Amino acid sequence: MALQTLIRMVYPPRCLNCGDMVDSDFGLCGPCWRDTPFIGGVVCDLCGTPLPGGEAGELAHCDDCLTIARPWDRGRAALLYDGNGRRMVLALKHGDRHEIAQPAARWMAQAARPLIQPGAILAPVPLHWSRLLRRRFNQSALLAQALGRETGLPYCPDLLRRDRRTESLEGKSRDARFATLTAAVSVHPNRAELLQNRAVLLVDDVMTSGATLAACAEACLAAGATQVSVIVLARVAKHP
Ligand SMILES: [Zn+2]
Ligand SMILES: [Zn+2]
Repeated sequence: MALQTLIRMVYPPRCLNCGDMVDSDFGLCGPCWRDTPFIGGVVCDLCGTPLPGGEAGELAHCDDCLTIARPWDRGRAALLYDGNGRRMVLALKHGDRHEIAQPAARWMAQAARPLIQPGAILAPVPLHWSRLLRRRFNQSALLAQALGRETGLPYCPDLLRRDRRTESLEGKSRDARFATLTAAVSVHPNRAELLQNRAVLLVDDVMTSGATLAACAEACLAAGATQVSVIVLARVAKHP
C-alpha cells in the first residue's frame, strides 16, 4: 500500500489520451471522455456496430453481418475506431502504451457483459511469431489478460496460433482479406483439450472486416468449442 502511494506520488495518474493529470485511474480526463466514441444504445448483436433507431434490448444485425457469414454467436465493441478511439488503439499497438490495456479492458468488460458466460475461456487473436518478434508484444493478448482480471474468466494466451505469415491486410478488399486468412489460424495442439465443451470469448483490438475473427472462430469450433463470442476494443464502423 505504501509502495502504491509512493508510485502515485512519482507517477500521478494521467489521461490516456491527452496526458493531463486526472484524479483517478479511470483512464480519461473529462473532456477526453466526452470526446471518446464509446458505443451505446442499440448495437448489432454480431459485431457491436451502433445501429440507428430500434429499442434497447432489441436483437438487431447490421447490413454487413446480414451479408457476411459470421461463424461466431455474438459480438461487441467498446469504442468506434475513430477520433480518440483510433488514437488509443494505435498508441497501444505501435506506441508501447501498455498502460492503456487495463482501462480499455474495463470498457470492454462493460460492453461484453451480455456475452459473458461462466466457464468461458478468453483467447486473444494471435500474431504470427515473426510479427510478434518485431513488435515484442501482442496487443490483443494484453487486452485479453487485462479482461481476465476484470471478468475473472480464465485467459489462455496461446490457445490460437497463426500458421502462415499473412501479408498486411491494410488496403485489401473484403474478399481478399477473407481469402488471405482462411486456414491461417489453428488451435494450438497442446490446448485443444482445454476447448472441449467450452465457450470461447475471442479478444482483439480492432474489428475491420471481421475476417481474422472469423478464421479464429472457425478454428475454435473445429477444435471442439461449443460456442464462440467476440469482444473488441474498437469497431471500424460508420456513425449511426
Ligand atoms: Zn484527456
Ligand atoms: Zn454487425
